[in-house]
Amino acid sequence: MSKTITLLGSTGSIGTQSLDVARMHGYTVFGLAAHSRVELLLKQIQEFHPRYVAVVDETACDRLEGELAGMPDAPRLLKGAQGLRTLAAMDGPDVVLNAVVGIAGLPASLAAIESGHDLALANKESLVTGGHLVTDAVRRKGVRLLPVDSEHSAIFQCLQDQHSAKRLTKILLTASGGPFFGMKRDQLAGKKKEDALKHPNWNMGAKITIDSATLMNKGLELIEAVWLFGLPEDKIQIVVQRESIIHSAVQFADNSVIAQMGVPDMRIPIQYALTWPDRLPSPVPELDFAALKSLSFDVADEETFRCLAACKKAIRKGGLAPCAANGANEEAVALFLQDKIGFLDIGRLVEGVVDSEAFGGDYTLQDVYDCDAMARAYVRAHL
Ligand code: NAD
Ligand code: MG
Repeated sequence: MSKTITLLGSTGSIGTQSLDVARMHGYTVFGLAAHSRVELLLKQIQEFHPRYVAVVDETACDRLEGELAGMPDAPRLLKGAQGLRTLAAMDGPDVVLNAVVGIAGLPASLAAIESGHDLALANKESLVTGGHLVTDAVRRKGVRLLPVDSEHSAIFQCLQDQHSAKRLTKILLTASGGPFFGMKRDQLAGKKKEDALKHPNWNMGAKITIDSATLMNKGLELIEAVWLFGLPEDKIQIVVQRESIIHSAVQFADNSVIAQMGVPDMRIPIQYALTWPDRLPSPVPELDFAALKSLSFDVADEETFRCLAACKKAIRKGGLAPCAANGANEEAVALFLQDKIGFLDIGRLVEGVVDSEAFGGDYTLQDVYDCDAMARAYVRAHL
């Protein structure tokens, strides 16, 4: 079945794997967007011939314009954050896949939904920072929100039976535990970015890899699951599954549990978001149970990994508290990647901002931006 997609964040880990899927199934690429990696974008343009390309970094956009000069059927370029939103809203694709990292993805998600597009969402920060804006817009516009995050895709796959979906009582959100699983605070204090960037099972962008080491990623995913599946935070249990084979599970009123499994490869959930409700052959190898032998389970240590505790607190507080947690984390992770703060400072700062005020209540997009700026300022003031 042929499909036309617009892919936002095409130069990243999810973006390039999405293009693997598009290549395999011969999908048409209507639009591509990225921040600044001109050389990779140029290769993608030569292979997929998009009609439009948005480049958020303006200098990179000018450089790409130079590279494209004289190319037959060169795409039209759209510049800056406004260009990203314009592309997200454009008619042409069957689905917009948002694989931008961070809150920068939120306006693009909203633009795609408001223009009536189905949205395949990898950018979990859209739901964490603007959960009620995104879900209200999805309801109002009657579009589909298709999860790409592997855990949420797993839950979505387990809920395809419409009857039992109504009897969902619990979500078992699995976590790999990250590279520092089992360690205590004294062992974590000296960890540097080189240690945190070594993830045992997944090869991902730098920000989400650090989020996996701090368990912030699981906190963000818990908030994402609340918005996607409508269960309260206390009905979502984090289960450490070190091998990343069980991608999450759901439990029903009769205490029956259904889990989704597969080798850890994002091309399965990416493809499912694009082919849903159908399934197609995939480039991912099959799960070899003979080689697997065992699966292990454990609990997440929230006393040590404060980001997870802070995210739970934030979703219980409601309103803009999750947005504040996310903003503090984005700022803290950037500082950690520059060796300006220690590993444990990330959790301290995220928890600090969540505790700093009441939040609560409905909000506008401007309120989200203001809260994000407040959280980043909080981090810089509390180093
Ligand atoms: P990445 O850092 O590898 O790629 C990010 C992409 O976003 C790049 O194409 C970059 O050009 C673009 N980008 C960065 N800043 C931007 C901005 N200000 N405006 C527009 N575009 C910008 O990240 P990733 O690992 O591919 O993750 C992307 C998203 O998918 C994140 O929200 C992440 O949490 C989520 N996710 C990733 C994985 C994974 O395996 N990598 C799994 C699940 C969910
Ligand atoms: Mg995930």
